[in-house]
Amino acid sequence: MTELSFDERYEQIDLPFYREQLAPVLPRQVLDFHAHTWKSDHWKTVPWQTDAAGGKYMVTPQEYGVERLLADGKMLFPDRPFHAVCFGQPTPAVDIEKTNAYSAEAARHAGLFPLLITGRGTLAPDELRVAIREQGFFGYKVFLNWFGNDYGQVTVEEMIGPEEMALADELRLIVLLHVPRAGRLADPEVQCGVRKYATEYPGANIVLAHCGRCYLPDEMKSAIGAVADLQNVFLDTSMVMDPLVLQMVFRYIDSSRVLFATDLPVAAMRGRRVYVMDHWVDVVLEGYRESEYRVASNKIHATFMAWEIALAVLRAGEMAGLSQDRVKAVFCENGMALLRRVMNGRQLEVAMARWERQPSRKRDQV
Ligand SMILES: [Zn+2]
Repeated sequence: MTELSFDERYEQIDLPFYREQLAPVLPRQVLDFHAHTWKSDHWKTVPWQTDAAGGKYMVTPQEYGVERLLADGKMLFPDRPFHAVCFGQPTPAVDIEKTNAYSAEAARHAGLFPLLITGRGTLAPDELRVAIREQGFFGYKVFLNWFGNDYGQVTVEEMIGPEEMALADELRLIVLLHVPRAGRLADPEVQCGVRKYATEYPGANIVLAHCGRCYLPDEMKSAIGAVADLQNVFLDTSMVMDPLVLQMVFRYIDSSRVLFATDLPVAAMRGRRVYVMDHWVDVVLEGYRESEYRVASNKIHATFMAWEIALAVLRAGEMAGLSQDRVKAVFCENGMALLRRVMNGRQLEVAMARWERQPSRKRDQV
């Protein structure tokens, strides 16, 4: 294969693929329910520049500012507005205060909805309430108190506590949770924690990142039954590219509980997450930084992972017999309905009023 520049590849390979496969079936606007944004000075230490265990689990750009997030949104969905639920890097390597302040500031851009990175006892309940109200957060991205793949024996209840959940229940906040442990959502201990919080705090909107980290069909098979009846538990599709996984999701739960998501900047890579034996592997084009479970080759055809996620949703929807409208809703409307629940719509109204006051920054209305 001849070597093309990034832009040549975009024009010659990516865009024709997008126009043929995705543009005709996506809704008028797209909402990505899981995207990151951060500046390089938020790092206390850059994990992959250390010898920390798990430090090279997911190597990303050192900086992914809001302008780049918006530019990637434009690159991925060039013919329609792109909106995103966004937050910083939820790891101990980052200055959480700085990264949270940055996400709140980033959400001055119309169509960006920030989440506050927080965990059990990170902030006193009053401080948490003030942060949510005054800085316009739509809920929490639960802090991950570990590096990389080292999930240990952490439980859901250790990650986020009753005080944070009580506030989420009261204000109907989003609680975006990356579940712990090697067994992922298939782990009975994790299932127990999710079930406990979903039933004890019915007003909280619990979103399980990466479909509960079930990238493999076998993982989802053992997981989905545990959350099927929990109407306030939702799944985001970030980095889930296996149609069979999503087909199972659509079979067990109403599609309105499934939210399109990417995990930008990771899903801006050209490649696809596949599985080999019992673990996911990111197969990508050459030129990205080395990372665990990342295999690079220029001998393959590849386009953006975000589009592979979208394709998996479309294929799964078709196999599960969903109507076109229901599939379209996964890409925007389901997530917007969830954002509208927060503080009974008040947080969205406040955000929209703020965007209205900034005509220069105004983008397409949601
Ligand atoms: Zn993420």
